[in-house]
Amino acid sequence: MKIILLGPTGSGKGTQADFISKLLRLKHIEAGEILRKEAKKNKLIKKIMERGKLIPDKQVIKIINNIIKNYNNFILDGFPRTLKQSKSLKFIPDLVLFLEVKKENIVKRLLLRKRFDDNKKNIEMRYKIYLKQTIPVVKYFNHKKVLIKVNGNPQIKEVSKNIKKILIKYRQQP
Ligand code: AMP
Repeated sequence: MKIILLGPTGSGKGTQADFISKLLRLKHIEAGEILRKEAKKNKLIKKIMERGKLIPDKQVIKIINNIIKNYNNFILDGFPRTLKQSKSLKFIPDLVLFLEVKKENIVKRLLLRKRFDDNKKNIEMRYKIYLKQTIPVVKYFNHKKVLIKVNGNPQIKEVSKNIKKILIKYRQQP
């Protein structure tokens, strides 16, 4: 099974992808984590991440697709984030989950997290990019009829419970 999890930074994507990966025994492929490892070797990538901008499509597509090709069952978290990345996928997802969270909740969560790239200016930048670049990805998959929206505003456990229900329902489909 191949699942994609979409949502803005701070939507709880990583946590919920982890939950899904354990529940369905899928490999969790986390773009942000992979790129943070790259940033340790590559100063330019680190600079872009510190500014809250996206790593250029060409680079990300190469890095992430190189990892995806090793797995048949996975949950992909943080990729694709642009239309170009979406069109680069060499597989058809069974399901695309979209975690929708209000901006005020995102800002609150990210300011509590304190990761190296979490500061107010950077958070605003990432949200703007999300609206401009990632919302078209949501529309792209919605058009393909594989997208399910999940309300990501409640507490983590509540969101996980709702995701579990969606997954059970999905698997019961003929
Ligand atoms: P995340 O952990 O998903 O919030 O990602 C952290 C940072 O990694 C982002 O702010 C981007 O700089 C970079 N990044 C993660 N995923 C992608 C992607 N699919 N395309 C471009 N840059 C990305």
